[in-house]
Amino acid sequence: MSVLPIFRSVIAFVFFSLPGTALAKEAVDMIVYGDYVLTMEKGAGVLNNGAVAVKDGTILAVGPRADIEAEFKTKKKVSGTDKVLMPGLINGHTHAAMVLFRGMADDMTLIDWLQNYIFPMEGKFVDKDFVRAGAQLACWEMLRGGTTTIVDMYFYPRIAAQVYKTCGLRAILGAPMIDYPSPGFTGWDDSFAAGEEFVQNFKDPSGRLIAAFAPHGAYTVSPEHLRAVLAAAKASGAPLMMHVAESPSEMQVMKERYHNTTVRHIAGLGMLDYPLIAAHMVWPDEDEMDMLAMSQVGPIHNPTSNMKTAAGFSPVPQMLAKGINVGLGTDGAASNNDLDMWEEIRHAALIHKGKSGDATIMPAKTVLAMATRMGSAAIGLGDVVGTLSTGKRADMIQLILTSPRLAPLYDVESHLVYVAGSRDVVTTIIDGQMVMRNGKVRSLDRAKVIQDAKVQADKIRAALEAEK
Ligand SMILES: [Zn+2]
Repeated sequence: MSVLPIFRSVIAFVFFSLPGTALAKEAVDMIVYGDYVLTMEKGAGVLNNGAVAVKDGTILAVGPRADIEAEFKTKKKVSGTDKVLMPGLINGHTHAAMVLFRGMADDMTLIDWLQNYIFPMEGKFVDKDFVRAGAQLACWEMLRGGTTTIVDMYFYPRIAAQVYKTCGLRAILGAPMIDYPSPGFTGWDDSFAAGEEFVQNFKDPSGRLIAAFAPHGAYTVSPEHLRAVLAAAKASGAPLMMHVAESPSEMQVMKERYHNTTVRHIAGLGMLDYPLIAAHMVWPDEDEMDMLAMSQVGPIHNPTSNMKTAAGFSPVPQMLAKGINVGLGTDGAASNNDLDMWEEIRHAALIHKGKSGDATIMPAKTVLAMATRMGSAAIGLGDVVGTLSTGKRADMIQLILTSPRLAPLYDVESHLVYVAGSRDVVTTIIDGQMVMRNGKVRSLDRAKVIQDAKVQADKIRAALEAEK
């Protein structure tokens, strides 16, 4: 027997087991670490001392630190000491630029608020400059708090898209359509035409920004018009979003006008056969929840807004029990009054316990999934973001757990839901781009964001004063 094979295997052993052997490792753009890694994949727990390898904006691998370091090399390492690494948060329903109306009108009925403040102020002030300044301000707040994807429904979506392109946010931008006069439009015809034009012509080579249709609601858009927009959505394949069964006043209008509930009404129009992003969904009945479970609809729970406008309590625990992917959203900051997803997470975990008298419902793990994995599925991006998984886009955040407010630490998921918040987020990465590091948003000029918002707010304040 020749000794050569033995010699060869010894060589091979030495060669492949040498630590740091360049040939054996794949170069990646970035390795992000976490003392605690939550992939948020279904059934996954907390991975201690883990890491994620990122290349070309995509997650190449997730695993224990030692495994990732054995397989990949990089010049850019993002420390995970005392940090949680998890997917970025998904805000499934907002009107970002409305941050400029934050705190303008509170503590009034939904109708009073809408008809006497929001609609008149939108008519007077919402133009391209308003949307640019508002979207910037919103973007800063969202990136600071770890939100990486939003579903945005607001006027001048092209202007908002320019802002999101610069600041690095991932967004589905819904062109608003309504039967009544609205900023830039006289009514349905021109708002629908502009929406169709936007969806057909808007292109984002990065794939991060997606144009969508956003009819306001079934009580503000006629059945014929909803049919038209559904047909347009089907023809283009673009996402479709709408407020659905939000408030008792909406349900009353639907009953008087159509002798029907909102969900049954839109089911009759075929809207449940399309992946509709359905904001609020406060008032589906038992049968309607069964219909939703069989549909492609993604309900978005907005607990803070629903409480503030006294819209009611969405039957989220029941929808989840039926296997529906329910996402979370902030709604606009005019009815919230911020864009902080950690507050939505906490409210979602708390209000249903309080209402039902059952402290076991909406556990921390479930609510975190609503803000990540389930949220991504609800908005049609389940294959793209929402978990730290090989092949998905690299949208992720780190929170630091060193504040005395977070001590002691027994259970990471518990802390994320019941204690932690935006101020604990230190890193925000979207599409592999580091848009916030060490708590500093890098993709926006903070002073300019504040100054541009002030210019708009000064105009609004003057108008409010003049009306007194
Ligand atoms: Zn809304």
